[in-house]
Amino acid sequence: MNVVVLLGAPGAGKGTQAPLLAARLGIPVIATGDLFRAAVRDGTPLGMEARRYMDAGQLVPDEITVKLLLERISRPDAKAGVILDGFPRTAVQAAALDEALAGRREQVSAAVLVDVPTEELVRRMSGRWICRGAGHPYHETSSPPRLEGVCDLDGSELYQRVDDRPETIRARMDQQLGALEQVIEHYRVARVLRTVNGLQDITIVADAIDAALADAGVTPVVAGQG
Ligand code: AMP
Repeated sequence: MNVVVLLGAPGAGKGTQAPLLAARLGIPVIATGDLFRAAVRDGTPLGMEARRYMDAGQLVPDEITVKLLLERISRPDAKAGVILDGFPRTAVQAAALDEALAGRREQVSAAVLVDVPTEELVRRMSGRWICRGAGHPYHETSSPPRLEGVCDLDGSELYQRVDDRPETIRARMDQQLGALEQVIEHYRVARVLRTVNGLQDITIVADAIDAALADAGVTPVVAGQG
């Protein structure tokens, strides 16, 4: 069983790479954020509990998160392997995953960190501008307006939400990076950490992930195997 953990700060491009990698490896992406959103939508007791934390922008407690993740990776479609996105988010979760896998004589095959410097993350996430007229979204670099500060569609003024301002983003990022650093350290100690440079084009990052995984012995699953 291939267990690949994708690590990266918000904005590092992990969410772009995860489905591409899943297609190449022939195994599913399991994102705890998606599992929680589905549980909230279905109105399950777990979903109702998780929602309290999600709405407050906090991490869901480890006990609940680990239980949900372990249940998901024990389903038949995860038999040949999984790509984990958004899990583990804490050292406790990382240790719980190790323990559960060890119980099945399995282990994390590789933890791939998509590495992007904090200042670049702040720049990527803080480039969002919205028009006052109808909330049409723009981005400084990826979809700028024709005329700076003016909406292409209705001519109204563009502004930045408090949430999208660099100083707000930097504060939120500092909080999240602390926990990520512990998870990175966990996998560094376990000698399964591989780091790829996230400051490159999408296809180059994808190639770098493939190379890192091949180095860790993770190869695509042939249909019917497992
Ligand atoms: P995401 O889609 O990964 O941003 O996750 C959305 C929300 O789900 C997060 O803000 C957390 O409240 C919760 N969540 C997702 N994954 C985890 C995790 N591994 N540990 C704790 N909470 C999580």
